[in-house]
Order: sequence, then C-alpha cells, then structure tokens
Amino acid sequence: MDNSIKNRFPIFVARPGLVYLDSGATALKPDTAIEAVSGYYRDLSANVGRGLYRTAEETSARFETVRERAARFVGADPEEIVFTRNTTEGINLLEYSLADRVTEGDVIVVTALEHHSNFLPWKRLAKRSGTELRIVPFDIEGRLNPDSLREHIDGRTKIFAFSAVSNVLGSVNDVTALIRAAKAINPGIITVVDAAQAAGHMAVDAREWDCDFLALSGHKMYGPTGVGLLYGKTALLRTLEPYQVGGGMILDSTSETPVYMDAPQRFEAGTPDIAAVLGLEAAIGFVEEIGTDAIHSHEIALATKAAKRLTETFGDSIRILGPATRENGIISFTMDGIHPHDIAQVLGERDICIRAGEHCASPLHRELGIPASARASFSVYNTETDIDRLIEGLKGAVNLFKK
Ligand code: PLP
Repeated sequence: MDNSIKNRFPIFVARPGLVYLDSGATALKPDTAIEAVSGYYRDLSANVGRGLYRTAEETSARFETVRERAARFVGADPEEIVFTRNTTEGINLLEYSLADRVTEGDVIVVTALEHHSNFLPWKRLAKRSGTELRIVPFDIEGRLNPDSLREHIDGRTKIFAFSAVSNVLGSVNDVTALIRAAKAINPGIITVVDAAQAAGHMAVDAREWDCDFLALSGHKMYGPTGVGLLYGKTALLRTLEPYQVGGGMILDSTSETPVYMDAPQRFEAGTPDIAAVLGLEAAIGFVEEIGTDAIHSHEIALATKAAKRLTETFGDSIRILGPATRENGIISFTMDGIHPHDIAQVLGERDICIRAGEHCASPLHRELGIPASARASFSVYNTETDIDRLIEGLKGAVNLFKK
C-alpha cells in the first residue's frame, strides 16, 4: 500500500506523528467520508421520507441509494438491509424481536470469542425467557471448529450467534462452514453473524455465508459513527416484531392493532442519522476502490511483520495471543511484568495508539486465564514505520518498568 492511501486520511495532516494502531476500536475516516457527512449538512439538511420539496426528495433518494449500495456490499437485496446505529444496536434489535421465538426449554448458543455486544443481549434473552445459554469454546488457534458444534447445538437450539472475526485474537472463522454445520444439526436454527471486525477488512457476503442475520458498524470500516447495518433474510425480517415504534414505520396507527410498514422500514422508527448513512456510502466506495483483498493482505503483512519483530525483540517476555500466523491486522499480546494498561499509557504518551484491557470480551480473557491484554490493530493506512515506532515505544515501556 503506498503513501497515497495514507494521504487520503486528513487526520495525518493535523497530526503527522500519529501512529494509529486502534482500528479495531474505530477506523480513521478518509476524505470522501468526511466530505459526504459535511456535504449533507451543507447542501441538503433535509429529513428522509417526508418532505415534498427538492432537498427532501433528493435526501430520500440518496438515502435509498445507500441502502442499495450497502446491500451489494454485503451480498444482499436492499429490502434486507436495516440501518441501525451500530452492531450493538443490530444485535439488541434481534434480542428484542426474536424474543417471541424462544421459550423455556429452548437453547441459545453463543461462543467464548464474543464481544459483549454479541454476548450480553443473548445472555439477557436467555435469562428472560428461561432458555439455556450454551457457550461454544474456541480452539487453540482461537477459532470455532464446525465439527465441535454437535456438542453444543441440538434440536432445541433456536439461535446460534457468533463472530466472523475475533476482536481480540484476530482469528477468522469459516462462517460458511459453521452455518452449514449448525443447519445440518438443526435446519430451523436462526444464525446471527457479528461481522463488526470483518467488514471493511475482508469480503462479507451474507448470501454466500447463508446466515439469517448479520450485523456490522460503519465506523469500523472507515465510515462515520452513528450508522450500522443489520442484514436479515427477507422471509424472517418481514415476520419480526419492530424493535422501536414511532414515525416513519407505520401504515395505520388508529386501528386497534397498529399496521406497520414492511421490512426494512418497520425497523427504522424515527429520524435516522442521515449524514452518517451518506458517509457510509463514501466509506463503502473507499473500500471497494482499494478492494477488500488488497486491504486484507496489507493488514496481514503488517501484523505478520509486527509479530516477528515483537518476538525477535522481546523473546519469551512477550506472549502473542491467537493463531500462530496472523489472519488479519489484529495482534494482541501480554508482556511479563507490565500491565497492558501501563503499556498503552506509555505508548499513548508517544502518540502511539493501542488498546488495553479486556476489549469488551471478558469471557475470552477468562478462557485464556489472563486479566487483560494489549492490542495493536493494523489497517489500510498503517506502514512499516508504525511497526518501528511500536517496537521503540514498547522498549521504552520495558525500560521504564524494569527500574
Ligand atoms: N462486535 C465486535 C466483534 C466488536 O469488535 C465490536 C466493537 O469493538 C462490536 C461488536 C460492537 O461494535 P459497536 O460498538 O460499533 O456497536
């Protein structure tokens, strides 16, 4: 990846020394996404689906164009795409709207890899409905094994929710194989894929994966905060109870039983974050321009080099978590004698941004038997110089805490 990509990110003009290795938390934004957001406020500033004047009609038309573009991006049809705020909201929507599908004696299956956003909603639903929550462990490489699903999924399992990519280990699951294995055991099972760490980094294809639902966040794939996507198979989406009720989703509010619009509008009550949705279109354009394959290879190449340099420099005193070979840009680690928070703080003082803690994945850290980890996540704008700076920063942390 050449420097022209980095030049597309205005933050590096304002902060030339910035080493941003926290794209797993949120990605930086390219010029086109920033311009799409400000362009909406500057040139349109109308609501969607309501007004009959020009700016309103143009805004509504552009909003629906983004739905079409987003649908193509995840291998779906436009009516299968619900705009949400983020992955968390998409999964909470499902928790609410699928509640009438589970009763006492049923089973919900999640995994030990999950981010809290794909764990707590299911834990709450299980508690509320009196269903059993089962947790599939990950293997030694940090992946879910399709062959092991038989031990956890059975005829009573109603929902199986798992992530495509671990936000801590960077392990990439074989989503198609996992869904095929789950459906072979129980054809009626509802599958939910958390694609938050996959989108923008590798191909996301709901049709190929054959998942029933999929959730992602725009801000993790170079788009603005405040917008996410929930994909749902039409046949299922149309039968779900709306998560929120209000304006923009109703056909008849005066009858005894309100009549809601069809999906996806029935899940989009109230004014959406229009600017963010338009920004998401630009982010999709950015990802498609470079290509997910090129982005993925760049991230793997950098994370692989970083892992090599880390072990060469720190030897046995560093433990790199997850797969033996890097599968994306995420690389989490612990260092002997230094708490991950201290590592992140020392690096932060040098403008090197990494994440430390549990990364909203306590069950995973518990499974690994560690209280916390440090995570560097590489993305399209990172370079080998960032690896040099990371290593120098870590040497500084080691020197400081040795004393
Ligand atoms: N799922 C995974 C795997 C994540 O990494 C994250 C965020 O880090 C989320 C879900 C939640 O995303 P958001 O905060 O955008 O809803």
